[in-house]
Amino acid sequence: MVVMPVVNQAKCNGCGLCIDVCGLKAIVRVGSKVTVIEMEKCSWCIQCEIVCPTGAITCPYEIVFEEHPKTDSRSVLSPIAFL
Ligand code: SF4
Ligand code: SF4
Repeated sequence: MVVMPVVNQAKCNGCGLCIDVCGLKAIVRVGSKVTVIEMEKCSWCIQCEIVCPTGAITCPYEIVFEEHPKTDSRSVLSPIAFL
């Protein structure tokens, strides 16, 4: 199952904020308002969902972190899809 943000094209107003906020350039514009998220670039950070003023982007997953006690750090283990 592919887990990634979902764009509701009917709600998108073409403002481009999601494109600006995505540091990995995973979102591209198609036409005047539609954005497409490139699965292979997306890191599931949810910044696009947070910045979208119309609620057009939803991230239907939660992130599971892997703890690294020796280095006191953590990294993304995997995204888990909501049911
Ligand atoms: S931030 Fe939301 S409304 Fe703006 S271009 Fe992206 S998906 Fe569309
Ligand atoms: S979740 Fe993060 S990396 Fe993926 S498209 Fe949104 S802003 Fe870009």
